[in-house]
Amino acid sequence: MPELPEVETTLRGIQPHILNLKISSIIVRQSSLRWPVPEKLIRKKLISNSFNNITRRGKYLLLESSNEFLIIHLGMSGSLRITEEQNLRKHDHIDICFEDGTILRYCDPRRFGCFLWTNNPSDHFLLKNLGPEPLGNNFNGQYLFSLSRGKKVPIKNFIMNSHVVVGVGNIYASEALFASGIRPSSRAGRISKNKYEELANKIVELLRKSIDKGGTTLRDFVSGNNEPGYFKQSLMVYGREGETCYKCSSRIKSLRIGQRASAFCPKCQISF
Ligand SMILES: [Zn+2]
Repeated sequence: MPELPEVETTLRGIQPHILNLKISSIIVRQSSLRWPVPEKLIRKKLISNSFNNITRRGKYLLLESSNEFLIIHLGMSGSLRITEEQNLRKHDHIDICFEDGTILRYCDPRRFGCFLWTNNPSDHFLLKNLGPEPLGNNFNGQYLFSLSRGKKVPIKNFIMNSHVVVGVGNIYASEALFASGIRPSSRAGRISKNKYEELANKIVELLRKSIDKGGTTLRDFVSGNNEPGYFKQSLMVYGREGETCYKCSSRIKSLRIGQRASAFCPKCQISF
């Protein structure tokens, strides 16, 4: 699943290729994504117009045109690529074609993504209840500490809840909890302010590191020759159940928390 760093890399990858280019046509081959694609509306708003800014809110990309916004989410398996090729691959559902021949192509095998239109993102049903950006100024240990008082939910669920903070998926939650020595099943309300400071810093650090590493993937991505790959990073616990901990050599265990596999080191990560 594309996580926040992949979405940020996608933003940085597509932006320089399409900003302020005149849109000549929009081809929708498959309109049943998670919600139906409002084809007519998107054509009416965008053809002969251009995108003047691209931003991100959580894992939603916001492509701005005349103070209105195309909202794109990559869902479970979606990707965007810049291409000039007419040759289609399976699941290439939508093309936004620009006057100079550039195409922004959306591919989504599982069709859990979305293409929607809004004139007010802060009031849109998908965006209005989102928590702060992990890389923004409103996210820190004090914030997590205050919000978690009295909460019995496992810490892993707490930091993966988009009302608490956006864009912390399973990989980053698992890795940040390892890096700060907190067992994923710990109750959110029992973790100290100092521990929350450490956790918030680790979340930010891991996300930034992953975004920085996106640079190499980005070139392939923009050339349109390869699928955008997931970042190969040194994972300490995620996906390593049964293997030995790089820090202490204990065997990495896994628990199911909120339907998700949650890997942890029983020695390095303490229960609160
Ligand atoms: Zn360990």
